[in-house]
Amino acid sequence: MGESGAVPHVLIFPFPAQGHINSMLKLAELFVSLTNFHVTFLNSEHNHKRLGLRADSLLERVHFEAITDGLPECHPRSADRIMDLFDSLKARTKPIFREMLREKAKRGEPPVTCVIGDAILSFILEIGEEVGVPVIAFRTVSACSLWAYFSIPWLIDARVLPIPEGADMDQTVTCVPGMEGLLRLRDLPSFCRERDISNPGLQLVQNETRHTVKARTLILNTFEALEGQTLNQIRKHCKTVRAIGPLHALLRAQGPKAPPLFPSMSLWLEDRSCLTWLDSQAPGSVLYVSFGSYTVISRRQLTEFCYGIVNSGKPFLWVIRPDLLDGEEAVLPEELALQAEAQGRFVKWAPQEEVLHHPAVVGFLTHSGWNSTLESLEAGVPMLCWSFFADQQVNSRFVEGVWGVGLDMKDVCDRVVVEHKVRELVENEGPRRAARAMAERVRESVNPGGSSFMEFEELIDDIRSMRACTL
Ligand code: UDP
Repeated sequence: MGESGAVPHVLIFPFPAQGHINSMLKLAELFVSLTNFHVTFLNSEHNHKRLGLRADSLLERVHFEAITDGLPECHPRSADRIMDLFDSLKARTKPIFREMLREKAKRGEPPVTCVIGDAILSFILEIGEEVGVPVIAFRTVSACSLWAYFSIPWLIDARVLPIPEGADMDQTVTCVPGMEGLLRLRDLPSFCRERDISNPGLQLVQNETRHTVKARTLILNTFEALEGQTLNQIRKHCKTVRAIGPLHALLRAQGPKAPPLFPSMSLWLEDRSCLTWLDSQAPGSVLYVSFGSYTVISRRQLTEFCYGIVNSGKPFLWVIRPDLLDGEEAVLPEELALQAEAQGRFVKWAPQEEVLHHPAVVGFLTHSGWNSTLESLEAGVPMLCWSFFADQQVNSRFVEGVWGVGLDMKDVCDRVVVEHKVRELVENEGPRRAARAMAERVRESVNPGGSSFMEFEELIDDIRSMRACTL
């Protein structure tokens, strides 16, 4: 433990979205459970308000602060308007963060010695350099999708991008090193489907990824046994890459040393009654369905999924966020709604990690967000993947094609296919066996002596050795 007066003060700054908050918060919990570090966690004011009421009693050792995201309160901050959020963070939040960090590095109690910044916001790195505070970059996506982002300039040079109109999306791509013959056009990050390579989303992921690799240390929420080969590709371009995930599993592995400080940091109110409903279901019988915090689907897609799941005859627990449908209420045809309610349960938001660990759950129909994927891997639950955007297209390919822990149904939303795939997922022993074996590898990685455990210890040592530069 550090001496008094030399205690590190880490400021953690996530991109203001649920998946980013969740993984970076686990890191905060690990620091306060295992070290004497002071930890400040910086949320957007908008999210701070949404979280505040439910988090108050839990703020024991992490100091929560808020900074504006620069958008008006009424802005939806939804996936289709995500560029507004990026633009506003850069234009309005960045200068405020600069002043905040200057102040905290001089007069913080104790002064901030290190920032762990969400690497999708490269301005955090820039400001750390300006102010003289070391920044560790944390990219919350998988290594495989980060590597695909990194390869975008090569895809453009090879004229794979932009994808020509009418191209065969099953054609494989050869210029993502280490993934030759694996990635099809449809498996590239969703931004790669843009017809115009000057598209702001495509430009943004390229630029931010270029900056990410410049960081002195890059943290990834993954583990060697899962993504070692891809990590080695990234290491050719980065100074230090630390694979310390899955962070929620690393935290869980601390056992009684680390009682979870924050049972919930959800932006939506968790409906815990679904756990009681799961208790009433047979072991290994229920399909859990959730598309994460950002995905938006159409009413037609909702109906197709619902027919498919109902026709599979499997009981289900389905998360339908109030904003899952684009500007519409999630209403099903009357007859279908009656059938669905007899067979399953709908909630607005679930305690997902607990749901995935419930013995009644047999499979997960997911959008392949990276946190959801890791949570499913750790719980040993096979996945049926229907990716929505960004990194999810790559993750879902790896789930089926590399890790063998599920099925990839991307780009198809048809009731007959859904029914067939749900049955294939839950009735076949193959993906279930692979998922159980993967859960074991997760445990090995996060237990003492495991790769993520060791990397996390080294990260702690790195942080202890850092001192803010003279201001
Ligand atoms: N989540 C949850 N309850 C729900 C749905 C999702 O707690 O009903 C959590 C889930 O456990 C995960 C996060 O929300 O940690 C979603 O992150 P992910 O990276 O999977 O997807 P995103 O929301 O970023 O698309």
